[in-house]
Formats: sequence, C-alpha cells, structure tokens
Amino acid sequence: MLRDKRARTVPATLLITPSTVAGPDRPLLGPVSSELSEILAQHVRVTDIHDERSFYQAFADHLGTARRSIWIWAPWTTDRVKSLLPVLTDAAARGVKVTLFVRDPGDALQRKPKHQKYLADLRAALHTVVEINMMHQKIVIIDEETVLLGSLNSLSQSWTREVMLTVRGAHFAQKLLEHEHADQFAAPPRCGVCDGTKVDLRRRRSDDWYWRCYSDACPRWTPGGRSAWTQAAIGATSPKPSNRQRSPSESAASSQGATRPAGPPPPQRRPAGNRAPRSASGPSEATGEPRP
Ligand SMILES: [Zn+2]
Repeated sequence: MLRDKRARTVPATLLITPSTVAGPDRPLLGPVSSELSEILAQHVRVTDIHDERSFYQAFADHLGTARRSIWIWAPWTTDRVKSLLPVLTDAAARGVKVTLFVRDPGDALQRKPKHQKYLADLRAALHTVVEINMMHQKIVIIDEETVLLGSLNSLSQSWTREVMLTVRGAHFAQKLLEHEHADQFAAPPRCGVCDGTKVDLRRRRSDDWYWRCYSDACPRWTPGGRSAWTQAAIGATSPKPSNRQRSPSESAASSQGATRPAGPPPPQRRPAGNRAPRSASGPSEATGEPRP
C-alpha cells in the first residue's frame, strides 16, 4: 500500500505532542493525523497507585524532577510540611513555578497558629499561595503532564488510610487545570479597601466565585463578613477606583446590594483560640478525616 501511495506514515512522536505545545513547535498534521492526534492526546495512563506509605517517596521524586510547574491542592498545612518544605523550596529555587491552594483560616484546623506558621514558611518559599474557603480537593499536577489524584492530603496526612493515582496525560492534566480554574485562581488580588493580602476565595450558591478580604484590620471587616470587600474571581476586572474612596456606609450598602453572598452568612473569623462554629460542610471539616 505504501508503494502504491495508498497509505502514508506518520511518526508516532508527531501524534502524541502534548496539547500544551503551541505555535511553531507544533507539528503540521493533515486532517486524518490531526484527528488521530486529538484522540491520542485524550489518552491517559494510570502509571501508579500509591497508599499513604508509598506516596511520599513518589511525591518527593516528582517534586524533585519537576521542570516547569507544580500545582498543589492540599487543604491543610500541618507537620508534613516539615519534610516537604526543603524539596518544594529547591523546586522553586531552580525556577519551577510552585502554586499552592489551601483552606482559608475560617477553618478551625487550618487557622491554628502552628499550621499558620507552616503556611507562612510555604508562602516565603513558593511562587503563589491561595486560600480557598471550604477547599477539599487533593490534587498535584507536575509540569502540566503528570497528575497525582486521590484521597490523600499531601501536606497534612499522618495516619489515615489513603489512595492516590498517578495519571499521565497532558490533555487530562490541562483539562483538570481548567476545571479548577487554576490560572485565574492563582492570581489573588489585594484588598481594594485595605490593600492587604488576607484575601480568600469563596463560592456563592449561585456558583459565582469571588475574592473576599478577611483581615480584621480592614475598615470593611465585620464579624459576619457581610460588608467585607469582595471582587469577582472569574472574568474579574480591576477594582473600581471609587471603591477606595467610598464612605464606610456607602461601601457597606453597596456590598449588601451587589456582592453579599446568597444563602447563609459565611463562617465568621474569630481570634485564634476561640471555638469555631460547626461548619455546614459536615463533620469532615475540622474533625476526623483530615486530622494530622
Ligand atoms: Zn481589606
């Protein structure tokens, strides 16, 4: 068939070019090869399954060999940080962009001073740290190609039984990053009122994601957070300049009308040491499952 020119050959390497390769580096393919390439790009391989015992060596290996980026969704930062901080610091120091998503300090476990200290250590070493209200995903994505996904909280696991899959596939990794709005959420704004960085990411019942200042030093802070400074997190534009100049009463009125989350008021931020209200997320938030 080849001799009769009724068949053509396409090197397999051209067909499995990751979807993230763009522009002049992307091989030119005909219509049939393009379709085949698209199908192959969606192919994923589960290359490993780890439990809580074997995970951490594999995790350290992945972190140690990352070349471009490390994305981590890990709700809590506890004693596990001690052993992982050096390898994460090394990665950041060699130019790997490390982005970490964790729970905000509205969570009783995460706001403990010890855990906030670990978070501060991570902030000092990593490219970006983002606090998300009620976050519960457990994901690591290396170089937009390798995904570690399962039940294990990578920065806080201590004694629970877990499973983590290692999944390879650039198309899948990209899809997961898009699903988690990774790029948009990796750029938290400063508060438009106090200019502080104590801004967490929240989700309304209507599905809208928004940033909210939780600093109790912010002029807009109230115990219930109802008049706190907020900004849309997806499709966000820069905060209106007038935001800073409004009187507190005008700002509060505007916030009540335009940006107050639907549904019950969000958890209050209380000083460390006070007992936290039981969250609507059920028992997993601050009780059994994630405890270090
Ligand atoms: Zn503020």
